[in-house]
Amino acid sequence: MSARVLVVDDVLPNVKLLEARLSAEYFNVQTAYSGPEALAKAVADPPDIVLLDVMMPGMDGFEVCRRLKAEPRTRHVPVVMVTALSAAEDRVRGLECGADDFLTKPVRDLALYARIRSLVRLKMLADEWRLRSDTSERFGMPESVAPGERDLPTDGARVCVVDELPGLAKTLEKALAGEGAFVELAGDAAAARAMAESGACDAVLVNTLMRKTDGLRLCAELRASERARNVPLLAVLDDGDEARLAKALDLGVTDYLLTPIESNELVARVRTQIRRKRYIDALRANYERNMALALTDELTGLHNRRYMEAHLGGLLRRALQSGRPLTLLVVDIDLFKNVNDTYGHLAGDDVLRAVANRLQRNLRPFDTVARWGGEEFLVAMPDADRKIGLMVAERLRAKVAENPIELAEQPNGVPITISVGVASAEKPGEDLASLMKAADEALYRAKQNGRNRIESA
Ligand code: GH3
Ligand code: MG
Ligand code: MG
Repeated sequence: MSARVLVVDDVLPNVKLLEARLSAEYFNVQTAYSGPEALAKAVADPPDIVLLDVMMPGMDGFEVCRRLKAEPRTRHVPVVMVTALSAAEDRVRGLECGADDFLTKPVRDLALYARIRSLVRLKMLADEWRLRSDTSERFGMPESVAPGERDLPTDGARVCVVDELPGLAKTLEKALAGEGAFVELAGDAAAARAMAESGACDAVLVNTLMRKTDGLRLCAELRASERARNVPLLAVLDDGDEARLAKALDLGVTDYLLTPIESNELVARVRTQIRRKRYIDALRANYERNMALALTDELTGLHNRRYMEAHLGGLLRRALQSGRPLTLLVVDIDLFKNVNDTYGHLAGDDVLRAVANRLQRNLRPFDTVARWGGEEFLVAMPDADRKIGLMVAERLRAKVAENPIELAEQPNGVPITISVGVASAEKPGEDLASLMKAADEALYRAKQNGRNRIESA
């Protein structure tokens, strides 16, 4: 991972030193010597992370950070403030400006590389979801995610604190009470895992200084757990234990606090993690919804052709591998052009919806039905041979023909019939194209032979 790092400091030797050390680790380094220069460079070509000096003449680091986080092009770039100060008020002030982390001068290598890697990893995950979301927006899918993670509320959040003493949990509980958040205390690893994997947890805070429980091991387990992997994980560590901090970051801890813990900083960091999780959850949900939309036929709510084409390949492969049959039904509404001509196109749409509904209601749940074209549907029936296929096709034909389709403006209903072509893959070596062709030819014969009937290949 060759992250692009923007180093900002008004003191030339500081910049040169960091640049040399980061370049030696194969980071791609850019530099700026003032706040305005940093802003210009970051906006023109956003880096993966900014290392930002706090004390600079003119515009100080807090202000630069605030502006970076307010600018849409750079709001997702993590910012690490590099400070000579280590006072807790400055850290809280930095967090309020949107800073993601702090380093105290002189900066030690291990801590530096571990922080950069960890923050860049988190950024890349969010970038991936943002990109998917942008892609679907370009295809006209609705956007439903707040413009920035900082704007998302933390109301009703559930935080799990893993500790042998109740102090941290109490502090958090008091601070987050106004937002209706719940803080639950887990006294050991098993309780922590259960809460983290419950799906109802917005953040987990692990005190790694516990006596009986190995906190770092728990962090590793939570990162390896399928269900807890995406829950933000904060670790409490001993100030000065750089090796364990680097280890924790490499394990995938999303943020950390060093003892002695300052309660404002604790609350600010937990809030940031909850917002970040909610932001990514919103992007993911939006993406999944858009994917579903992209694969659904708008008029009937059935799967669309794009979905069915992708699905058929897998169905046929599985059928051939398991030696089980697969049957396709091509269903076409008879003389549908007349429906449009007689009752109008909108009534035609209603008929299509009603036919789709009758087809779906009369199939097994694991059969797939899609709108294949205008007034043509395709049904794929795994585990069904030709005989069953013919039986089902006949049932569908009868269900459509038995009652006219009721329309609001047509009190007597519109009589509709369908014709069906049936083709089965029953022996090895069958391919999709010839199967489809066989079904189409059968349908053509059904039309030739008078419609409202079924034919098989
Ligand atoms: P056949 O029995 O031979 O299938 O005759 P047909 O009239 O059903 O077939 P044809 O292919 O000649 O006409 C299909 C008609 O379906 C033409 C087209 O306008 C109509 N159609 C296709 N898509 C839609 C749609 O989304 N809504 C409506 N209302 N009509 C549609
Ligand atoms: Mg037709
Ligand atoms: Mg047709």
